[in-house]
Amino acid sequence: MFGRAPKKSDNTRYYEILGVSKNASQDDLKKAYKKAAIKNHPDKGGDPEKFKELAQAYEVLSDPEKREIYDQYGEDALKEGMGGGGGGHDPFDIFQSFFGGNPFGGGSSRGRRQRRGDDVVHPLKVSLEELYQGTTKKLSLSRNVICSKCEGKGSKSGASMKCAGCQGTGMKVTIRHLGPSMIQQMQHACNECKGTGEAINDKDRCPHCKGEKVVPEKKVLEVFVEKGMQNGQKITFPGEADEAPDTVTGDIVFVLQQKEHPKFKRKGEDLFYEHTLSLTEALCGFQFVLAHLDGRQLLIKSSPGQVVKPDSYKAINDEGMPLYQRPFMKGKLYIHFTVDFPDSLTPDQVKALAAVLPPKPSSELTDMELDECEETTLHDVNIEEEMRRKQSQAQEAYDEDDDMHGGAQRVQCAQQ
Ligand SMILES: [Zn+2]
Ligand SMILES: [Zn+2]
Repeated sequence: MFGRAPKKSDNTRYYEILGVSKNASQDDLKKAYKKAAIKNHPDKGGDPEKFKELAQAYEVLSDPEKREIYDQYGEDALKEGMGGGGGGHDPFDIFQSFFGGNPFGGGSSRGRRQRRGDDVVHPLKVSLEELYQGTTKKLSLSRNVICSKCEGKGSKSGASMKCAGCQGTGMKVTIRHLGPSMIQQMQHACNECKGTGEAINDKDRCPHCKGEKVVPEKKVLEVFVEKGMQNGQKITFPGEADEAPDTVTGDIVFVLQQKEHPKFKRKGEDLFYEHTLSLTEALCGFQFVLAHLDGRQLLIKSSPGQVVKPDSYKAINDEGMPLYQRPFMKGKLYIHFTVDFPDSLTPDQVKALAAVLPPKPSSELTDMELDECEETTLHDVNIEEEMRRKQSQAQEAYDEDDDMHGGAQRVQCAQQ
């Protein structure tokens, strides 16, 4: 087959356009084309040139004869072979013949109309560690595939009869009497043939699928969770959902669900970490070990003389999440500091602290000034709770007020 060595660039471009290897199977080509054509469809804002190229590449490679010519002699040989017509079909025709209609709904349907099977959506739980490092998850799924023995016909001979239940229409009409002179007609899919309009003779039934046309199959899918993927991000396996006759198989879609992490919170590409310091650490310096998501131990320490204030943040560059598809770049790691103050101090501690801390700003008050003041006492409060209680009291009072007005108005109306 590869008798004459062709120029290399001549017969690889179509494979590159579809992103498949030179020994890709028809199935691989189909999948690759389907995925890329949907992505680049001009109806969805794709590049029309790219869409055209995809159709061209698929048209050639999906035809074994053309593919062989292309493999041996490259693109130019095909153009010559196609004669003066300029070669190739309308990319929209190729797309539609592939999907049997416009998969985005609407528009013209030039090809034979084919139903599109449902997508199957699975949530996929992942830890923050897995999103940081990337992982592969093997998932075993059961799905229906077209029976290989009867090729989805359901019968040994390939023949089918009209369903007796619906005379081959696939629909049944039931009539309901709603009243003496009223009836309601309802149309629904025939239950005997599941809306296909076909029946298979018992003796002719395919023994492998028992006439069901599909058989269940266990399949293990390897899901590559890439570094830096986000919560809610979708990973799609095109054409891997349930197969059915005359149906374009839907996709299996995994939706990532990031599990809560006990230590880290994620915001986009950044990570947040909570740490509590004692007052002594906040004032006199600290160091501690932070176990990162990939198991590395980071030494976090203050510089000499540095004071950390309560509710403040410090950041470490390039220790946040890796960026999706650019994993060598990383966001920031923010550390939020809480400072644990002592509840009270002994007189000796007060004296010792006052001796080393900066002097108090207020000057001492004179006896005369003190005489003119009233004494007060400071109580401990839970400010949030008190405010909440006050607000709900105010709301109740307002509601009562409203009721009274309402009542007064009703009285007025009655008088008029
Ligand atoms: Zn029927
Ligand atoms: Zn079968």
